[in-house]
Amino acid sequence: TDFTAALTRAGKSENLPREDLITLLGADADESKVLFRLADQVRLKYMGNGVHFRGIIEFSNYCSKNCFYCGLRRDNAGLTRYRMEAGEIIAGAREAARLGCRTVVLQSGEDSFYSAEILAGIIFRIKKELDLAVTLSLGDRSKQDYALLREAGADRCLLKHETCDAGLFSDLRPGTSLEGRITRLKWLRELGYQVGSGNMVGLPGQTIETLAGDIILMRDLEVEMAGIGPFIPNKQTPLANASGGTLEMTLKTLAVARIAMPWAHLPSTTSAASIHPSGRVKALKSGANVIMPNMTPQRYRESYCIYPGKLGTADTPAQSYNRAVMAVKDAGRCISEGYGHSLRYQKKY
Ligand code: SAM
Ligand code: SF4
Repeated sequence: TDFTAALTRAGKSENLPREDLITLLGADADESKVLFRLADQVRLKYMGNGVHFRGIIEFSNYCSKNCFYCGLRRDNAGLTRYRMEAGEIIAGAREAARLGCRTVVLQSGEDSFYSAEILAGIIFRIKKELDLAVTLSLGDRSKQDYALLREAGADRCLLKHETCDAGLFSDLRPGTSLEGRITRLKWLRELGYQVGSGNMVGLPGQTIETLAGDIILMRDLEVEMAGIGPFIPNKQTPLANASGGTLEMTLKTLAVARIAMPWAHLPSTTSAASIHPSGRVKALKSGANVIMPNMTPQRYRESYCIYPGKLGTADTPAQSYNRAVMAVKDAGRCISEGYGHSLRYQKKY
């Protein structure tokens, strides 16, 4: 069959043509099992058995953007807004390090309250006082801002392209363009960041051709990290009645991404964990090699409501960490001891 032929080529080459990616993404239930197994083998061969822990601190839920899919959008009045103070963010990073994380991810809505100078101060202190790699996930900033944050010591930056369909991108992210996002990803590369992108699975109007395009875009950009998770509709957004992504389609996209980008760090996302009790373990068995335990102080968690049913909303950081450890054990894997820098950064390829 077409599937078997594409899978055979997939086992031999990273530069799979678009048609093969589409065929693999169209795998039926039985074919999917074979696809996941191949992705798992590729993950083992290139990335090993270690799972990298990236503790995420969601330090502000204020956002000036109005993305149709996201609960933090500006026009969502049904959300209690909060901002963590610098000292609180650093204490959160200290707790992440104490629990065993080697990376902290600082994430927020697009919140200009935190100037580049304020953020640089926080990053500088984390890098000086703690043994942690720092990843930023702050949305759109100016090139000067990204440059200052890099100088302050930030190692990596995540900026998901969300969808490679330029029309859909602008429809869902009013006032922004896919082109603008790609330009930013290129700036980040120039500035020496390890660069992460990613996309949601199951956005309204998306097809498997779109998902193949998402993977090709990330392969062309040579991103070192790719966050791939299901879109989960949120009642407090314009996409309240959309159907959202399935775990099955998310796992297929993850598996094909692993096969197409064998060296990329691919998280088993919180969103995959949130739509299915074994979503996290299944993702680890379908190509993922990263897990992002939530290190946000418990009292803020309910307010960082991007989508409903988010895993660990009532947890403390220690509980979230332990939950991630359990998933790693259930998947038969081990916790990586390294920082989990990109392999390119470590000059391994
Ligand atoms: N504001 C920053 C940004 O947009 O890059 C970082 C925070 S934002 C909440 C992080 C990610 O959440 C986005 O890249 C998007 O993919 C994801 N997200 C937003 N709404 C979602 C939803 N309803 N379901 C699943 N993921 C969602
Ligand atoms: Fe803001 Fe990011 Fe949510 Fe868009 S996805 S509304 S930029 S937090």
